Amino acid sequence: MTEASWKGASLELRNLSLAYGPIEVLRRVSLTVAPGTTTCIIGPSGSGKSTLLRGINRLHEPQSGDVLLAGRSVLRDKPDALRLRIGMVFQHFNLFPDHSALENVALAPWKVKGLPKSQAMAIARQRLDEVGLGQRADHHPRDLSGGQQQRVAIARALAMDPEVMLFDEATSALDPELVKGVLTLMADLCRRGMTMVVVTHEMGFARKVADQVVFMDEGEIIEAGSPAALFDNPQSPRLQRFLSEVL
Ligand code: ADP
Ligand code: MG
Repeated sequence: MTEASWKGASLELRNLSLAYGPIEVLRRVSLTVAPGTTTCIIGPSGSGKSTLLRGINRLHEPQSGDVLLAGRSVLRDKPDALRLRIGMVFQHFNLFPDHSALENVALAPWKVKGLPKSQAMAIARQRLDEVGLGQRADHHPRDLSGGQQQRVAIARALAMDPEVMLFDEATSALDPELVKGVLTLMADLCRRGMTMVVVTHEMGFARKVADQVVFMDEGEIIEAGSPAALFDNPQSPRLQRFLSEVL
C-alpha cells in the first residue's frame, strides 16, 4: 500500500436545523470538527444521524443554521461545488456495475472535475493502490467482495481529493468477516490526516479511533466528548440506556 497524506479541513456546524416537509428532524445542531480528526456519531435508529450528514453535504438543504468548511460558510456555494470538497461513503456502495474498479474511481475526476482521462486514470490507480486494491483494478464490482467494493467506494471518494470524508454506516451491510478491513482502512485515513465524520454502530471503532464521539437522539446532540467520557462516564439517562442496549 502506498502511503498518502491528506489535508483535512476543519468543519463546523452552527445551529443546523433540517426538516422533511413539516417534520423537523435536526434541531439546532452545533458541532466542531478540527482538521485531521475523526468524529463518530452514535445514536438509535431514526435519531437523525444520516440527516446530519445529508445536511453537511447538502443532499438535503438545511432550514437554517450554517456549515463552515475550512472556516468559511458554504451554504451559498453551489451544492455541486461543495460535493467536490466533501467525500461521502454510504452503507450500500453504489458502484457502477458495468465499469471496472479503476473506471469507477476515475469517472468523477474525469467527468466531474474535467481532468484529462489519462490523468484521471493515473489518480484512480494510485487511490486503488492506497486502499490495497491495486491488483483488482480491472475487476468489475460483481467480482469483488463487499469489503473490496466498499474500499473501491472509498477510493472513489478519495479520488476527488476531499477535505472532509463522511461515512454513513459504511460497514453495516458487510459480512462480519469483511468489516475489519474497511474499519482498518478508515482508521488509516484518519491517521494520515483526513477529517472524518463517521456514523457507526461499531462502538469498538468509535472508542479506539474517534477524537470525539457524539450521541444523537431525536434530532439533537445529547452528549459529545472524548470516547472515554461518553463510553465510561455517560451523563444523560438516554445515553446510558443506549449504551446498555448496544454494548
Ligand atoms: P438515522 O440515520 O439516525 O437512523 P435518519 O436521519 O435517517 O436517522 O432519520 C431521522 C428521522 O427523519 C426519522 O424519523 C426518519 O423517519 C425521518 N426521515 C428520514 N428521511 C426522510 C425523508 N426522506 N422524508 C421524511 N422523513 C425522513
Ligand atoms: Mg441512518
